[in-house]
Amino acid sequence: DFLLPPAALFLLAIGFSSWWGGVGPGILAIALAVLGADVLSFALDPAILATTRFANAMAVVVVGVLTSVMMIHRVTQTRIQVERQQDANLRRRTEEHLAHEQHRLTTLLEHSPDRIYFKDRQSRFVVCSPSVARQFGFERTEQVIGKSDFDIFTREHAQPAYDDEQEIMRTGLPMINKEEKETWPDGRVAWASSTKAPFRDVNGVIIGTFGISRDITERKLADDALREAKLAAEEANLAKGQFLANMSHEIRTPLSAVVGMAEILLDSDLTAEQREFAQIIHQSGNGLVAMLNDILDFSKNEAGKLELEAIPFDLALAIDEVVHLLAANAEAKNLELILRVAPDAPTRLIGDPSRVRQVMSNLIGNAIKFTDQGHVFIDLNISPLDDHQATVRITVTDTGIGIAADKLDHIFDKFTQADASTTRRYGGTGLGLAICRQLVEGMGGALNVESRPDAGSTFVFTLTLPLAGGTSPRLPQQVELAGARVLVVEGNPIHQRVIAEQLSSWGCVPVCHLRADEALAAFPSANCQLAIIDTTLPDRSGLDLGRDLRAHDFGRECGLILLTSIGKRGDAKVAESAGFNAYLVKPVRTLDLGGALAAVRAAQLAGKLDGLVTRHTLAEERGHSSAFHRRKPR
Ligand code: ADP
Repeated sequence: DFLLPPAALFLLAIGFSSWWGGVGPGILAIALAVLGADVLSFALDPAILATTRFANAMAVVVVGVLTSVMMIHRVTQTRIQVERQQDANLRRRTEEHLAHEQHRLTTLLEHSPDRIYFKDRQSRFVVCSPSVARQFGFERTEQVIGKSDFDIFTREHAQPAYDDEQEIMRTGLPMINKEEKETWPDGRVAWASSTKAPFRDVNGVIIGTFGISRDITERKLADDALREAKLAAEEANLAKGQFLANMSHEIRTPLSAVVGMAEILLDSDLTAEQREFAQIIHQSGNGLVAMLNDILDFSKNEAGKLELEAIPFDLALAIDEVVHLLAANAEAKNLELILRVAPDAPTRLIGDPSRVRQVMSNLIGNAIKFTDQGHVFIDLNISPLDDHQATVRITVTDTGIGIAADKLDHIFDKFTQADASTTRRYGGTGLGLAICRQLVEGMGGALNVESRPDAGSTFVFTLTLPLAGGTSPRLPQQVELAGARVLVVEGNPIHQRVIAEQLSSWGCVPVCHLRADEALAAFPSANCQLAIIDTTLPDRSGLDLGRDLRAHDFGRECGLILLTSIGKRGDAKVAESAGFNAYLVKPVRTLDLGGALAAVRAAQLAGKLDGLVTRHTLAEERGHSSAFHRRKPR
């Protein structure tokens, strides 16, 4: 029984050592087992039994200790090996990573056209891209290291750049895209856009700066060239304006002589042919003067020399004057020229009457020029904004050739006409509307147009002006017209509406007809005390209608007023003999119409319907009535 434990222990030791310790301890264990077996054979001899037992115990102890040492050694070795392997792997990976980073950085530095650099606290280059060396005139970057801007540039650039870098290190704030002028010792000048920032070590301590500078010399030069070109263009434009102003001024002097002399010539005894020639000289001279005025105005506006007045004036009267000046042109083309002033409009405003007249004369002149039949209607509306100012809206509507949509935006450009054939057919310089818009915008207003080809045009002129206070007389005040029934026979519906509106504003009751026969038929029951009759009616002449009314009992006591287009000599006589009591030339001034109605009504009430009221008698009377107004200002 004493044999079993050592044998079992041997076997266990062998097995365990081989399994755990590996080959070495395994072989040792086998050797010990053999030795153990030897000892065992002695143990069979009972004589040496005690000794053998001891030897057995010793062998077991030795085997145990040795296998333990072997095992511990083996385990430690393995662990150290694993750790070494891990360390090596880590180092390899770190090195790979660093190499990769280095490659990226080198690629960036080597291939960037921008200058990239790191500097120390004294602004000396520590690292830089080859582009820095190249642009500084060196072959290798090493030649740049240790130098500062003071070694490369003139002080003019080096000092501010140095100051900037010191500031960046002091504040810790970056400098973004600063345009730097770089001056080189050889006199060259370049421009760079630089971004610089503080350079910190791993602990966050600022140890210098780093930056990127991009060469922007080309762009900068192009910008400068552009700026200079713009300046030159502006100067040239100003010079052109001044030249135009001088030229037109110089031309005007001899031209005035031409026009003046032609006038004198026209006053002298001439044959029919000579008169015709002198008239052509006179007309053409005047045309040239008008054109020169346009050019002069335009160049003044361009040169910013336009001065606007701010004086009290009556807008309705100003427009009325223009309308009357252009009435002959409209008449020559057989066009109705109609002016409507909204009743009760506060027409006394503060502004520049002559500039308003100029704009209106252009708009109305164009409307007449580009209309072959129909009418030109000028509508004036004024709505007070508050106690001090009012919005003025004037529209000039014609029934003329209209303007194509794609040309609408351009007609306000200088020297632009809606189409090339316009100049041939209608003349003009294409400056009128450009000047108008300049003037209107100068007054703080707006000028726009709505138009379609063959459907006429409407020019809209809007403006805000201060109110001047007071109103202009629209009707002689001493006569009461309220309640009078007035027959209106007028072939143009718009004109008819304008007259009716005026009559209503005076308290009259308008009874309107477009045709003479309708009016005649309706007259007996209409109970009208006064009648306003246009000369040209669709069915017959106004004169005939007057005669017919007078021929009947019902028309005998009626006050008759004839509206004619521009009067010819002897017209007044004809009107009077046809039975009319007043004779007014279109376009009729509101004040004249009111005056004529009042005068006729007064005569009628006094039972003395004789004599003819004309705008001349009205003007004379107005002399008195304005004296009357002066004594009693409103
Ligand atoms: P112009 O001296 O040629 O009349 P404007 O500047 O006054 O110059 O007008 C520019 C152009 O606008 C004209 O040539 C014409 O083609 C167009 N135009 C102006 N007013 C009218 C209108 N009432 N009807 C149609 N076309 C017009």
